[in-house]
Amino acid sequence: MIYRRIFVFTSGETVVDTATEKIVHAQPWRPRSSVYVCDTCGLTYARLEVWAGDRLQPFETYLMRCEQCPADLVRFQWPGSIIREWDEHFNDGLPLEVLQREARIHLKHRRK
Ligand SMILES: [Zn+2]
Repeated sequence: MIYRRIFVFTSGETVVDTATEKIVHAQPWRPRSSVYVCDTCGLTYARLEVWAGDRLQPFETYLMRCEQCPADLVRFQWPGSIIREWDEHFNDGLPLEVLQREARIHLKHRRK
């Protein structure tokens, strides 16, 4: 199946439209759209729209941590990241611009 993905980050600097691409997806159902909500301040810090033709796929919510809030030391996840450590297909399919954003976040927190 061919999908279009649009990544929007509310920090404002990044909107990535992947145009049309094939998503490698392990599950038998269609990949869903996502919103990433900060579990500390409530900010929706990222949004991923997945389009199958002209149909926006239903959203699922991930409670993680935004860039402005302190890291959750229990979970190994950098604030602001959208990486899903439990979903390698999702991570492997992230476009270059999103991976560059992830690298910036990781470097920022490694320096602290
Ligand atoms: Zn927050």
